[in-house]
Amino acid sequence: TQPVLELRSVSKTYTVKQGMFGKPKPLKAINDVSISLKRGEVLGLVGESGCGKSTLAKILLGLEEPTKGEVRVDGEVIGATDRRTLARRIQPIFQDPYSSLNPRKSIEDIISLPLRVHSIGDSNTQDKAVREILDIVGLPQRVMRTYPSQMSGGQRQRVAIARALIMKPEIVICDEPTSALDVSVQSQILNLLNDLRAEFNLTYLFISHDLAVVEHLATRVAVMYLGRIVEESSVGGLFDTSGHPYTQALLKSVLTPEAGKGVPDTELGMEYPNPIAPPSGCHFHPRCPMAMTHCATVPPRPVPTPEGHVECHLFDTENGHDTGTPLMREGV
Ligand code: SF4
Ligand code: MG
Repeated sequence: TQPVLELRSVSKTYTVKQGMFGKPKPLKAINDVSISLKRGEVLGLVGESGCGKSTLAKILLGLEEPTKGEVRVDGEVIGATDRRTLARRIQPIFQDPYSSLNPRKSIEDIISLPLRVHSIGDSNTQDKAVREILDIVGLPQRVMRTYPSQMSGGQRQRVAIARALIMKPEIVICDEPTSALDVSVQSQILNLLNDLRAEFNLTYLFISHDLAVVEHLATRVAVMYLGRIVEESSVGGLFDTSGHPYTQALLKSVLTPEAGKGVPDTELGMEYPNPIAPPSGCHFHPRCPMAMTHCATVPPRPVPTPEGHVECHLFDTENGHDTGTPLMREGV
């Protein structure tokens, strides 16, 4: 069946200047990425802060234009001019409801805003729609007249979900939707998202730095490192022991890092590299416990697997890149 949402060979390059007199340099936030989502599916997108996952979300939401490549919805290429119509079909839920909800607006105004922006219905039907959606996300009607500051973090995230779903979208881009919440509230919100997906046959792209959270919801997972999808697999396949060394490291990090702080460096030996100066060869080689000498010079190519693909020399038997001299370096 045709994917409902697809990225084909999408790249996004920014030009950044370091310091006042620094030369402008290209930053490849996304480097030739292809993903596709079937209707009703949940694709988890996992990676550390700075890997490009939020840029990818912005491209899908039309907040950024790709430098190269195509965004397709139902097989059709989407251009900048289609974004307004697309907003009815693709809606976001962001990480931090504190910053994404206008503190000066009542909850009723916040939730009904998309309907007013897109001139859907009149004030009567909009009012009715807000009441209905409050029920659906498990909030009492009385919150309509209150303000975000009067609500708990979990309630605010329910408001953000209500605001996204009032447009009856088909696709929801969830960018770290539970990272700002307490653990007990996290699972409530994840369960709510799961129920809503089943009830309305929604398709999710679920972005998180936390593989445990993704495992909860996703059917497939894409692992991102410095702008590349280094592994894509079914959730079951991912917990197999034979995956990409980076995925293995993510799986082993028992400590869940703070939002945006990345993997605890006890596992990987060093900090996430600067995307302006990505390491040569395999971008992961300075942190990889399995690295071989050629990993430092030869970029790995995606190798197809039964469940997706993996981008690592260890799997590239055809090229004979799967064996070699271990790379010796300090600290790993
Ligand atoms: Fe590690 Fe080499 Fe595979 Fe990169 S290509 S993940 S450095 S083994
Ligand atoms: Mg982010």
